[in-house]
Amino acid sequence: MKVGIIGAGYAGVSAALEAAKSGAEVHLFSEESVLPYYRPRIIAAAFGQIRSEEVYMHPAGWYKDNNIELNLNSKVEAIEQEGKSFSVISNGIKFLFDSIVVCTGAKPIIPGFAANHLNDSRITPLWTLDNAMEISSKIENVKTIAVIGGGLIGLETALRAAEKGLRVTVIEKAHRLLERNFSLKGSETIKRLLHIKEINVITEATVKSILPKPDYLEIITGNETFKAELCILSVGCVSNDQFKISPDIEKEYGFFVDGFLESSVPAFFAAGDCANLKNTSRQFSVLRALSQGKTAGINAANLNKKTKFEPGHISLDLKYKDFEIHSIGHVHHENLKNKTTSILEEENTSYRAILNDGEIVYGIEMVGSAREFNHYRKLLK
Ligand SMILES: Cc1cc2nc3c(=O)[nH]c(=O)nc-3n(C[C@H](O)[C@H](O)[C@H](O)COP(=O)(O)OP(=O)(O)OC[C@H]3O[C@@H](n4cnc5c(N)ncnc54)[C@H](O)[C@@H]3O)c2cc1C
Repeated sequence: MKVGIIGAGYAGVSAALEAAKSGAEVHLFSEESVLPYYRPRIIAAAFGQIRSEEVYMHPAGWYKDNNIELNLNSKVEAIEQEGKSFSVISNGIKFLFDSIVVCTGAKPIIPGFAANHLNDSRITPLWTLDNAMEISSKIENVKTIAVIGGGLIGLETALRAAEKGLRVTVIEKAHRLLERNFSLKGSETIKRLLHIKEINVITEATVKSILPKPDYLEIITGNETFKAELCILSVGCVSNDQFKISPDIEKEYGFFVDGFLESSVPAFFAAGDCANLKNTSRQFSVLRALSQGKTAGINAANLNKKTKFEPGHISLDLKYKDFEIHSIGHVHHENLKNKTTSILEEENTSYRAILNDGEIVYGIEMVGSAREFNHYRKLLK
């Protein structure tokens, strides 16, 4: 059995390991020039808080030791079905496989106001190790930074920049932070915690344009202009499903897959951020990518004995030093009638609450402390 795995992030590496353990001949393609790395750690790498070697998942020899043929600098340009096999074209070379696992992840959204400035390295997403290295090469000479987008990645970027002694402004379009995952009280507590770290959070502010000046950038919203030497774009991401595949695979915001992570084309699987598992909520997360990669890898190597993927609850967590926030399930009443919010703790710098109906818990939000999180998680419906 010959399995081709496209993309060497969490999903790709875990798929490769499982397929190889099942005895398949495994080729893992990565468009990047560096060894596969832990993507969340690149924020620390950008601010010089870990060494770049600490971001790699495994040393180079690990792949060979585990019977994985790792092809770096190998962007896959096209996949075509040829009878019962698939041909994969990378760097002009054609490879033939019995099954495919696509693990191409997601890519950052570049907002319109930034699209014309991407050759200015002061305006950048923080998505790849290359981005992180570029930022880290500048960071010692910078005193002010703007983070556009107050999601989880934006907030960790802001916290690490503040720790580094930079003056940080987070500009968020929504009327409050992380509104999908936290109630109003939760969001307000998060904002207070950031304020204590001297992070300036501006909500309900839409960036309209950026004016690059020789020594700084002018970031212009409807009402205000902010000056910063560096601007990190953190406004979300979309599944990376844009390459030539024939026949067409059904896709919309990612490749559609069934409970076995198989697409509309038999023996063609997808896992991680690029996969859209029907009837489940989307959440781009390491744990989901790892578990989907594992199942897809097993299935790609055992086409006659497939294993079902069991989607579990995925929590949204950010812990950096004494700042921590956690959320899982539903935290808004509007979605679940007749449920009550039980407040476990409400202080200036902490807020813990569950949305419940007696013994059954529908959602948990915790800001400033994770006390009893695991206890309530076990009661989650
Ligand atoms: C800065 C940052 C911080 C994050 N922090 C957290 C966190 O704290 N917790 C959490 O759960 N999640 C976090 N995430 C999200 C998490 O990293 C992703 O959900 C996870 O990496 C998804 O894994 P994946 O394998 O699906 O995709 P990825 O890790 O994105 O890997 C996909 C790989 O495929 C490669 N690729 C794409 N197209 C091709 C092609 N045509 N040919 C060859 N290779 C290709 C890409 O270059 C990439 O290396 C963070 C993300 C970022 C960017």
